[in-house]
Order: sequence, then structure tokens, then C-alpha cells
Amino acid sequence: MMAACHLMLLLNALPITAKTERTWYTADKLARLQTNLERHGWARALRDAAVRRAAKWSELSDDELAALVIGPEVPRAYDIHNLGCPVHGAAANQGGLYRWGIDHQHPFQIRCPAGGEVYPSNDFGRYLASGMKDRALLTGEFADDGRGWRDPRTGEKYWFVAYYAHWSMMRFLQPAIAELALGAVVAPDPDQAARFAHQCALLLWRLASYYPDYLYEKQSREGERNPSYGGRITNYIWEVGWVGPCALAYDAVWPYLRADTALQQRSGLDGEALDAFLRERLLRTMAVDITSGQGRCRGNYGMHQAALVQLAAAMAETERAPTSADMIQWVLANPHPVVDSDMGVLDALENLVYRDGVPQESPGYNLGWVVNLSQVAEPLVEVGRDLYQHPRFQRLLTWPFDLTVAGRFTPALGDSGDMFAGPVALSPTVCAAAVRHFPDPRLAAVVRATPGAARDLFAPAIEDTLADIPAASTAGPRSRLFPGYGLAVLESGVAGSLTAGVLHYGSWGHHMHRDQLNLLLFAHDNALLCDVGYPEQTDAYNPRRYGIWSNTIAHNTVTVDERPQERGPTRLLAWQPTGFAQVAEASAEGAYPGRVSLYRRAVMQIELSPERTCLVDVFHVRGGKRHDWSIMGTQSELTCVPELGPVQSRGTLAGADVPFEQFYDDPALRDKPLGTVSYGGYRGSGFQYFTGLRRATLAGAAVATFKLTEPLKGQPARPWQGLGLRAHLLGWEQEIIACEGVVQGYRQLPPKVPYLLRERRGEDLVSSFVTVFEPYRETPWIRRAAALTAGDDAVAVEIELVDGDKLIVVHSLSPGRALRVGEACRTDGQAAGLWLAPDGTVRRAMLLNGTELSAGAFRLAGRGAVGAKVAAVDYQRRRLTLAAPCPRPWPAPGAALLIDPGGRSEAVTVAAMIDERTIALADADLRCGGGPVISIETAGNRLVTNLASPHARSGMTVINARGEPQGRLADGQRWTIARGELGPLTPDCFPADDGARRFAIAVVGPGDEVQLPDLASYQK
Ligand SMILES: [Zn+2]
Ligand SMILES: [Zn+2]
Repeated sequence: MMAACHLMLLLNALPITAKTERTWYTADKLARLQTNLERHGWARALRDAAVRRAAKWSELSDDELAALVIGPEVPRAYDIHNLGCPVHGAAANQGGLYRWGIDHQHPFQIRCPAGGEVYPSNDFGRYLASGMKDRALLTGEFADDGRGWRDPRTGEKYWFVAYYAHWSMMRFLQPAIAELALGAVVAPDPDQAARFAHQCALLLWRLASYYPDYLYEKQSREGERNPSYGGRITNYIWEVGWVGPCALAYDAVWPYLRADTALQQRSGLDGEALDAFLRERLLRTMAVDITSGQGRCRGNYGMHQAALVQLAAAMAETERAPTSADMIQWVLANPHPVVDSDMGVLDALENLVYRDGVPQESPGYNLGWVVNLSQVAEPLVEVGRDLYQHPRFQRLLTWPFDLTVAGRFTPALGDSGDMFAGPVALSPTVCAAAVRHFPDPRLAAVVRATPGAARDLFAPAIEDTLADIPAASTAGPRSRLFPGYGLAVLESGVAGSLTAGVLHYGSWGHHMHRDQLNLLLFAHDNALLCDVGYPEQTDAYNPRRYGIWSNTIAHNTVTVDERPQERGPTRLLAWQPTGFAQVAEASAEGAYPGRVSLYRRAVMQIELSPERTCLVDVFHVRGGKRHDWSIMGTQSELTCVPELGPVQSRGTLAGADVPFEQFYDDPALRDKPLGTVSYGGYRGSGFQYFTGLRRATLAGAAVATFKLTEPLKGQPARPWQGLGLRAHLLGWEQEIIACEGVVQGYRQLPPKVPYLLRERRGEDLVSSFVTVFEPYRETPWIRRAAALTAGDDAVAVEIELVDGDKLIVVHSLSPGRALRVGEACRTDGQAAGLWLAPDGTVRRAMLLNGTELSAGAFRLAGRGAVGAKVAAVDYQRRRLTLAAPCPRPWPAPGAALLIDPGGRSEAVTVAAMIDERTIALADADLRCGGGPVISIETAGNRLVTNLASPHARSGMTVINARGEPQGRLADGQRWTIARGELGPLTPDCFPADDGARRFAIAVVGPGDEVQLPDLASYQK
């Protein structure tokens, strides 16, 4: 309160607010509230619940409430220590982090979730009352002066008081503000509403009196480790969470401020000054924190944009910068983004969201984009900016449906999900907001499924909107390609019994793991080839995050030379999504630059019946001295034929003398106590995390079987009895290793999961890891799988089924070269599949990019892949014109044209052939970047813009707002444009048709080479 008095002097100089009414809870919103209350029982129930929540806080006295605001002199920490409790260690982290007990009736005390004991040993409240000066009050064994108790044995600090300060502000103060505010808006009793408003305003005033003085980097545990980590009460990401509740609360209590004499007395401010105090100290500080880009309040993409829209609406600021109009402009088209996450929404949709609608992070974090941008879009509609009509925003809203594979899973790539790959799904709230403006049947289906979850007191009732939207179609198998995100999903079976093989070849860089060419498999309602997913913490001090979970060896790919992958560029090399034998193929030599000359995976998914689909998987690696092929199984028992040897009794995969979790291959980390240093720089193998090793030698063929075991308590229901996955391992000179790896220490997860490895060593090693994955129910259906001879650059597999049928599957690195496969088969295709009846007649056949597939008297002819040059692109209608007629047969709808296969990973998909030279594309959008043209430097053919386009690559075509090509992006200083025959670059190249000059980068343009694929198929 002393602080407030001298602040009042400062505030006399402030202008009077322009706000004259509630501007978030507008008259329209309040009228909709009244209508809903009159008509709907659910609305009255929601209102009553909101009043009850507010009334609970309202039972506290003003002094008790005010004490929920902890001043900046008390440090904050979201974690006591990485390794848990000083007494119980990591046992305190079992079942999740941040589970220490706190209670605002017992300030500054926390209770260990493992042992129930209380820390610190001193009464910190008394020490605080002494001005944090009387150190005689720091009594007992675990005394904490706010900056943590130091363990005399290890020197490690444990932050008890700071943990309380952080979590009590988050768990008590933040909801108290939000719930009292909503109570003030909806309470039917005017006296009760006024009391809620008074108490809420009291909290806002207390918080405002401190707010500019919260400086996270100087007042936190994180700040001691990383002094440039900004924020205020909390770190800069979580800080965003304060903005919306405070902005809406300010709007909620605003009509009461001038009559609140109790608060005016307590604060020493009259109504006007109190209003100005809240605006200046709290809201304007927040607005400047965001718009200045200084990193005090910056969330994941869309979080601070959504918060700023709420701030703009609540403040209705017309005088002082940033005005509310400035804030909206910043959200849509920030002219000076300091970092990518500050980019305006319209530019971010073009540059940070891939053209397939998926943002550039792990699926879980990408869902955050949808949630956050929905919160930006919804209020913007009210000010006349309708993002829901933007095509890429529509794709952003719907990718979670497309990324749901086998009916119910989302690949747990990067920091996302867990080994069971539960769906990354849109909430009914997001869908309800969106479907009012964008009537997609899949959005409507989510709302219909849980109508109660999408209720909004201030919006029109959703039933009226849903009545006009048709039902979503039941999903059958649908293979799909995400050409920007770098994900190929092969699906087969029928609705209710789908198999999906997922090949990840993306190079997105946020919350990623070192997992390029990861292969996941889903069948029989289970994730069978798994990914650990989200680590226990995304904290660099957690040894397992970088030691194992983001490391290459934890993924279904190949580790070269006991090192993790880099994140290199990748190429898509085949995409064939139709028929009984589908194909996806990609390479990622950039994952091991300078170490490998070939790093490529081809996956052929063969469907024999809805219940019987197998994957023939070929992984080629050339270069290096050691190759470790790995797969992570699901919760299961792993056995092998031939039988595995005895369990290695000592050590780990890193060696019999390397103990579990020792960072043996990093001298800087090796001898440090776990959890005391950052592991962000670790570039070792992670092999120290694998134990229980049993070995066998692969001599031709082996069969490893993962038999599913019963779900543990807390796991989602899923079938398991009689289900399994067999991996037929083909090859020579490989050591098979079955072992156990660790997953997150959560109660519902198994403590260990089986891993299957194949190891090869040698000089300048050449490996082809060939596997047939056979998901089965009750009994296996493959009798045996064997490699056939096919030549150096090719792999051929013969698969005998228990019913007498036979499959021959071929993959070649050199399409066009004639191969003799086994006894009687010939082909020159990139991929080929033959399905033979017991009498040798051909049931089905598939030939990709070849001229011949023959077996005995059977012959299937194709034209082979051909290259073609693009003469022109119509970017508006999304059509390609080829320089020469397309040879027949023409590519079928769904076929992928690989663009400049020698360089980029991009592909476009055929919708239809219009005529022999014109191809209509199925791609919704051909742009992968773009922005405003700030100026043109004619001398260097340079275009100057204000933002980054991380997905644009040299050689791509630059177009203007009319879709007219202006040259290609050249190497060197961005954005230098190679103009070819077009003459010097001038401002006229980018006309300002809609008032702003803009450019875009297109993934295909005139002069590009494309591959016209060829598919020949036969069905008896
Ligand atoms: Zn404990
Ligand atoms: Zn992963």
C-alpha cells in the first residue's frame, strides 16, 4: 500500500481513459447471455456454476484475498529441483511433475507427494515480514530464504518457497481473478455481482501495484541458471496466461470501479485514478510487453496474439500507443517481427504453416496453433476480420482430422503424445467456434458428439448452426501425403479395421526428435511400432530428454556411428497410394551429412484382406562404421526365432562396463551428477539407456514376435488378447539384439518397453535392412518370408502365406535397370508387387515406374517414369502446363508429381488431366512463403521484406500478387532473385493491386523439372 501512494502522484499525469462501457462483454454479448438464460437450462446451470465458483473466493476476507498476490521480492520456480525431493528424490516426480501439495491457508509451505513431509523448515512468512532481513528466522534443517535451500552434501539447491510462490499465483490468484470476474458479469443478484466486482478489482489493483516490478530473470530459479530468460511473474511463455484473465476481468469490473468506495479508500485512489492505475500499470505494461517484442510476454505461436486481441477489446484504447487498433494490426500483420512467433497472423499462415495446413512443430504443439489461432479468430470476426474464410486457416483447422490415422491415432512424433499415440484432437469448444463461420462436417461431428462441452453463455446456441450441416462421412481407408510437413500415411482395410503405415520424412524443427525416416505402424486398434513421444519434461536439465527420448536410437530408424541424426533436408522419392500394394519412399542423407552417401527408406504396404496387411520395409544405409537399426515395440513380450542368447548381466547397450544412464560418450557430462547440467549439447548414442540385452545372429531370416500384454490400470481401453506383431528380419551379417528401453515414468505407462535392434559393423559399411511387418490377430498368417536374389541395387522378398498364396515384392534403387528376381520373375520397376495363387496364377500385380513385370507367362507392361518440363503454372486455378505432351498412360488422380527430384522434397498431386499438356492439381495451395515487398534493390536484383520464410528454398519460383513469375530465389543474401531472361528487377514487378505490394514463393514454377510417375496394375 505504501507503494501505491507514491504511484498515485505519477498517475495524476495520465490521460483519462477513452473507455465508456464494457467492450469485451459488449451489449450484444450480454443480450445473448439473457436469451440463453431464458431459453436454455444448460445456460442457467452454467451461470449457477459460475456464481458458485465466484462465491467460493468471495468467502475470503479482503485481506486474505489480497495475500494471494505475492510481491516480486519472493522468487518463483515451477520446479523445486529436476530430481525431485531432497529426501525421496525422483519418487516425488512419479505420476507427473508439479504435484507438490500447496494450500493458500498455509502460505509458503509445500508438501512432498512421495512422503508427505512439509518444506521449508522455517516460517518464510515471518522472514518476509522482516523485510527478508532477519536471518535468525531461517530455522531448521531445510531453511529457505526464498532463493532455495542448499543441500550441504551436494551443493544442489531446492526451491521450496519459490515453488509455492509460482504455483499459488497460478493456481489460486489466476482463477480467483477469472472466476470473480465472470461472477460479476453473470450473477443475477446485483449486490452479489458488486461484491464479486469489488473483490476482483482488489486483486487487479494489488497485482497492478507490483506488475512492472516483476522481472523473472532476476527473481526466479530459471533466471539463476539462464539469466536471459525473461518473463514477469512466470517465464515469458506462461506469462501470456495472465493477460487474458486480467483483460477480461478489467472489462468485467469496469462499471463498478467508480462506485467502489471501499477499494478507493484502501488504494488511496479515486475511481478515475483507480481505472487509470489498472490500465497503466497492468494492462498497458502487458500490451507493451507483447508488442515491443522484448520477450517478457511471448508464448508459443498464437498465444500472445490471442491475448493481445482480448487486451485490445477490453482496453478500447484510442489515445496512447499502442492503441487497440495498433494491437489488432500487430496481430494481423506485425510490421517488425523480432522473432518468428511475433509474425502477423496473415504472414504466419503463409510462412510458418506448411501449405498442407500443418504448422512446423510436433503434432501436439501444432494443435496449440489451432487452439490459439481460434482464440485470435473468434473475437476478430466481431471487428470485421474473418480469418475463417482464409483457405489456409481452414486447412489449419482441419489437419487434426487428416493426421488421425487408422481411425483413432495421431503419430506421436517429436514432443507429442505417448507410445499409445492417442489422438491429437480438436476440442468441442474450438470446433463450435469455428463451425459457426466454417461449416465443415467434421467440425460439426465433434460438437455433436459432446454437445455439453461446447456451450458458450455469450454465443448463440450451437444447435441452430448444426442443424444445417450434413453428417461427416464414415472414414474408410484413405492414404494421404503431407508434402510440406513431410509425412506419408498409407492406409488399408475397411472402416473399423484399418492398418496404417506412417513414414515420417519431415524436417520441421520445433519440438522435434532426431527421428527422420521414422516408421510407425498402427493395426488392430493398437500402436504397434511406437514412439515415446513427449518427454517427461522439455527441460534441458532432464538427462533423458536428450539422452534417449529425442535421440535417434529411441526411434524406428537407423543410428549411424553411435551418433544422433542432424536435421537435414529430405526428399520424397515415391508415393503410390492406391491398390493392394501401396508405396512410400523417401531419403534423408542430410541426417548424417558427410557420413553417409545413402540413407533411404522404402515402405510397401500390401493388403490381402481387410484383416491382413503387411509392410515390406527396406532401409538402405551406405557409409559409416556402425549401423544400428531400431524399432520400439508396444507394451508386449518379445520373443525370437532363432532363440535369443542369455541376458547380458552387466552394463548396457553401450557396453558391459557402461552402467545405466551414464553419459559415457560425453566427457563434459560423464561424471556430473544427473540433473545438474544441461544436456542440450549431447551428441552421443543414448545406448546407455538400453538394458536386458539378448542377442542372436541373423543368418538369412529370423522372426521376432511382439505379443501384446494386458493394459495396465489407467491405460485407455484397447484390444490386446491374441494380438501381436511379427517382424520377419531378412539378411546376413547382422546381430539381432532384443532389449528394454525406458519410457516416461508415468503410472499408466509400462516401466520398460521392448526394443528390437539390428547391428552391423565394418569399414565404409553398406547395409540393407529388410523387414516384413506382420500384424496379426489370433494366429500369424505368413508362413515364411525370404529374400530373393535381385542384384546389388535391389531388394526382393518372397512371402508365403499359410493359405498357400505367395507374394513377391521388389524394390530397386535403379529403376530402369532390368532385374532377374529369383527363378522366374523379371522387372525394371522402382517397386513391384505380385500376388500369386497356390497354382501360380497371378491374382494381382503392381508395377511402379517400370516397363516390365513378368513371372512365367504373366506380363505387366508400363511406360516407366518420365521427366517433363513445366512450361507455365496458373497459380489461381492451380494448373500446370507441360512443355511437351504427356506420354500415355497419363498419371491418375492422386498420383504425385515429384518436383525437381534432384533437389527438393516437394511434390504436387494430380487432380485430373485436362488435356495432354494441362494438369489440374489437387493441392489447395502452391505457396510456401511470402510477404510484403518493402523495397526493391534493382542493382542486386534484391527484394527486401520484413520477415522470414523458413520453408522457402533456393531455386523456388518467386511470384507477384497476380501470380506472375518473377524469377527464382538465388543463393546468397535473401532475397536475391535470379531473373534469367526477365531483365532487372524493378518495383513494377510487384504491382500493388490491393494497396500492398506482396510476393510469394511457389513450390513449382515454369522451367521446373517434374517426374511423371507411372503405375501399371493388374487384377484378375
Ligand atoms: Zn519427499
Ligand atoms: Zn520421438
